[in-house]
Amino acid sequence: MGPRVAEHLKKIGIETIQDVLFHLPIRYEDRTRIVPIGGVRPGQAQVVEGELDHVEIAFTRKGKSRRMLVCHLSDGTGAILLRFFHFNKLQQSKLIKGARIRCFGDVRFGPAKFEMIHPEYQVLSDAEEKVVEETLTPVYPTTEKVHQTLLRKISNQALNLLTEKYFVKDLIPENLSNQYHLPILKAALLYVHRPPPDADLKLLEDGMHRSQQRLAFEELLAHHLSLQKLRQKARLKNAYQLDVNKNTLSQQFIKSLPFKLTNAQKKVNDVISKDIAGNLPMMRLVQGDVGSGKTIVAALASLHAVESGYQAAIMAPTEILAEQHYQNFVKWFEPLGIKMAWLSGKLKGKKRNEMLEYISSGEATVIVGTHALFQDDVEFKSLALIVIDEQHRFGVHQRLALREKGADKNKVPHQLIMTATPIPRSLAMTAYADLDYSVIDELPPGRTPIKTVVIPEERREEVIQRVRNACAQGKQTYWVCTLIEESETLQCQAAEDTAQLLQESFSDLTVGLVHGRMKPVEKENVMKLFKQGDIDLLVATTVIEVGVDVPNATLMIIENAERLGLAQLHQLRGRVGRGSEASHCVLMFKKPLSQLAKSRLAIMRESNSGFDIAQKDLELRGPGEVLGTRQTGIMQFRIADIIRDEKLIDNVKIAANTIIKDHQECIQPLIRRWLGESEHYGGIG
Ligand code: ADP
Ligand code: MG
Repeated sequence: MGPRVAEHLKKIGIETIQDVLFHLPIRYEDRTRIVPIGGVRPGQAQVVEGELDHVEIAFTRKGKSRRMLVCHLSDGTGAILLRFFHFNKLQQSKLIKGARIRCFGDVRFGPAKFEMIHPEYQVLSDAEEKVVEETLTPVYPTTEKVHQTLLRKISNQALNLLTEKYFVKDLIPENLSNQYHLPILKAALLYVHRPPPDADLKLLEDGMHRSQQRLAFEELLAHHLSLQKLRQKARLKNAYQLDVNKNTLSQQFIKSLPFKLTNAQKKVNDVISKDIAGNLPMMRLVQGDVGSGKTIVAALASLHAVESGYQAAIMAPTEILAEQHYQNFVKWFEPLGIKMAWLSGKLKGKKRNEMLEYISSGEATVIVGTHALFQDDVEFKSLALIVIDEQHRFGVHQRLALREKGADKNKVPHQLIMTATPIPRSLAMTAYADLDYSVIDELPPGRTPIKTVVIPEERREEVIQRVRNACAQGKQTYWVCTLIEESETLQCQAAEDTAQLLQESFSDLTVGLVHGRMKPVEKENVMKLFKQGDIDLLVATTVIEVGVDVPNATLMIIENAERLGLAQLHQLRGRVGRGSEASHCVLMFKKPLSQLAKSRLAIMRESNSGFDIAQKDLELRGPGEVLGTRQTGIMQFRIADIIRDEKLIDNVKIAANTIIKDHQECIQPLIRRWLGESEHYGGIG
């Protein structure tokens, strides 16, 4: 092929014959059979052939002059309508009464009979006996510059080579292939690219054919190995060995708390202590449902760093959450004589410089902040531990960037990553194979489950009445305005308007407002007033989402709940139900609701468990959404599907370990084959 085409192909990672062979179809079309028109089925793409009985120019709707070419095609068994909205003179001159046509397209219901809109078609000459396709037609993922026809052409060439002389190496060691009864790679590739006409289309579309499963297994294996490699690389450097036996501060801290640690908190704390006492850098993901008390666990780990004479940094994804952590840590740690620093993107000029100095001199030992902690000019004196809260919002890259922040170039800090978005096990094992993993699987005692109701917007008055009742009983309420896919400015505007309207309906209550456009001091002020109980009703945008903790707030209203992801709804809802009183959550929605939206809201109504919700969310929306990493492309697979292939994952893990132990030589080729030279994993290879 020419250099221009090669250039375009390179952009989508196709450079070698192997790359072509592993650019896999996303679906199939059946063009192996001509279906009698009388037997076509709507909702399927099919090939039909017949004669044009009648052709006319028609208009879409009265008044609107959108022209279309309407062709009536019949074959003796039935008739079907073909509609073309775009057509030129030449096409018009061929699509005439009496012409023989073969076409391929989606069959749909029309007003009078079945129709195809813009089918692909060929005009057949009388003498011609056009052959049909011999195999199911693969449909490849394309780009603007790389079309389907090109991909079919080059895959034909590559497959011919594969049949004749090209050798594709089976990188899964033979004993593993045998153990898992995997088909031979060459056969699997040939099948997946060009399934025979008698192939079970349903099985193929579901991705469950043995050949597809064979490739999915290998793909998951490659991903797993690449993450393991990342992990090994990070472990080439030593960590600061923390002295967890010095525990005066942590004992003092635990005594100062108004409650006892839960068993789950103790258990996870023990695991972490073991990790950080070692000289390999800890890389641990701690999952705990909303309200399970992860902050305490982070605090305990930080105290070990301080007691061993080092610094600890705590990073949160939003300003509000970081501020709240800062306030908590100040409250807990300053009585212990620990000096704290604060860093956020909004801190500027002289104040910022002072903080940077405070951090780099080592005077401050516990540092709390936002992404600002990553910035190049932030230097730590002796950073031994990094806590990243609400990890799902940070990508692998960011995780790695902070790892480089240890001052001693030969050592890297321990990492503790905490997420309140429970990730289903299958996903965690795939997306975070570079991390160890523990769960705080218990909530502090005395919490009553939140009762959730789903109410259409028209019943707003009822909702307002509920708010009135709650506030009359001395309880506080959150009112969350959501407008996703719109600008932050619009979202803040909506919250401002809502706050004003609500203040008018509740003249005797204090209504507060917090949104992302407010100055940090203003936000902080409002949050403080709300915490103190001086604000009854807090109108907020989704900035309120993570971590905010006000136990007296027992009612939450979420507007346009149908537009949010389940994980996000669960997070929001977790702002209530933090005290011992029963809490309620009202999910308001705009009609009409799609089937998907209905089932999602029903899940929220029925479950309070973040783990259940995450599993359902994964099933409904796919891994990218659940991880919040769609943009970074971390979890994009060619053929594997985490939900469908969950049962492969245990074996993938075992296979990966065997390969790491006995077949090192296969690792790099496997990663190259499936992940290309991509940088997704932070410079592997
Ligand atoms: P999350 O895991 O969602 O980050 P937090 O750390 O914010 O949860 O804790 C939620 C609330 O529970 C806080 O008010 C915290 O003080 C409280 N809490 C934490 N641990 C316990 C415990 N063992 N017993 C009672 N309350 C606790
Ligand atoms: Mg938290």
